[in-house]
Amino acid sequence: MSNNPSFVLRKIEDVVFEERPIPDIKDDEALIAVKKTGICGSDVHYLVHGRIGDFVVENPMILGHESAGIVHKVGSKVTHLKPGDRVAMEPGATCRKCDDCKRGRYELCPDMVFAATPPYDGTLARYYPIPADLCYKLPDHLTLEDGAMMEPLSVGIHSVANVGAVKPSETVVVFGAGPVGLLCMAVARALGASRVIAVDIVPSRLEFAKTYAATDTYLPLAFQEGETRIAYSQRNAKAMMEQLGLEERGARGVNLVVDASGAEVSIQTGIYIAKHGGRFVQVGMGPPEIQIPITNLLVKEIDFKGSFRYGVRPAPFDPGDYPLAIALVAQGRIDLKPLITHRFSFEQAVDAFQTTRAGKSPDGKAVIKAVISGPDVDPADLL
Ligand SMILES: [Zn+2]
Ligand SMILES: [Zn+2]
Repeated sequence: MSNNPSFVLRKIEDVVFEERPIPDIKDDEALIAVKKTGICGSDVHYLVHGRIGDFVVENPMILGHESAGIVHKVGSKVTHLKPGDRVAMEPGATCRKCDDCKRGRYELCPDMVFAATPPYDGTLARYYPIPADLCYKLPDHLTLEDGAMMEPLSVGIHSVANVGAVKPSETVVVFGAGPVGLLCMAVARALGASRVIAVDIVPSRLEFAKTYAATDTYLPLAFQEGETRIAYSQRNAKAMMEQLGLEERGARGVNLVVDASGAEVSIQTGIYIAKHGGRFVQVGMGPPEIQIPITNLLVKEIDFKGSFRYGVRPAPFDPGDYPLAIALVAQGRIDLKPLITHRFSFEQAVDAFQTTRAGKSPDGKAVIKAVISGPDVDPADLL
């Protein structure tokens, strides 16, 4: 049977709607009627460049991975879900057998099947098959639009709560005030950070960050002619510390730096501003190789870590990133609604990508997150 319209990337700059067969499901899977999907920078990157690192689009691929929907049917072994349940969908299925899976670092699984990461199809279709344990039921007072946002929020949870191990009353600096950076700030605030400093080169993004989750903002200095990046970053860090009253040690020090920008100068500046014994988490993807002030990192014993997607949290910090994301939103400690700036119908998927890519809609409104509804769903109905 075929009633499964799908939004397919055929090759660079070439997307089409295709009728695909309705996917079969295994005993332990669920078939989800996808209702809301957020557009991610990675989706746009595949459209424009056809690849991210070693992941190359060689065959047509359905886009989308930030989704929520309604359970359409379940396999015979599924007991915790039934048709009609509203669920957030964690889009990475792991092998469950490898060393990384078994030691609780499943985001590192070499056999990950991740939605809209080549060669695997994504979620921008009427139906998506998924292991049932990757479906998280949403409380009644959350919308399916909130459910779709659990994906980027889980990235923020993983960076700040899990890898970054934020603690109450700490000072956190987040470089980059795009969707992931803003969500990192929200997580830091929700978990009790007393100071959350947003850094971005776009003043309007800083203004938004201040209304959303940041306690302070910092607009980086302008580059001087002939200055090296590292010299710039050193000067920028000094200015930032002066302006915000930050110190290298003690209670006015920066406990945790999160880079959600991927920019070389942000990473350099972040290392310079971290306090002695502080932590640094890299979540933003930028140029694959950069220069860092390694001696500064060494002397200050900065704990520098990478953060990739989401997973479970080490004991005693259970549950996993997705459940914690849903809990914080359900408790009202994080509000996802202000981040959704643009809504599109399924038929308008091309416009949604164009708008995300341009960073603003034709009326000039800046994009934080654009959401595409499922086929036959009214974009204004948040479900
Ligand atoms: Zn994403
Ligand atoms: Zn595995």
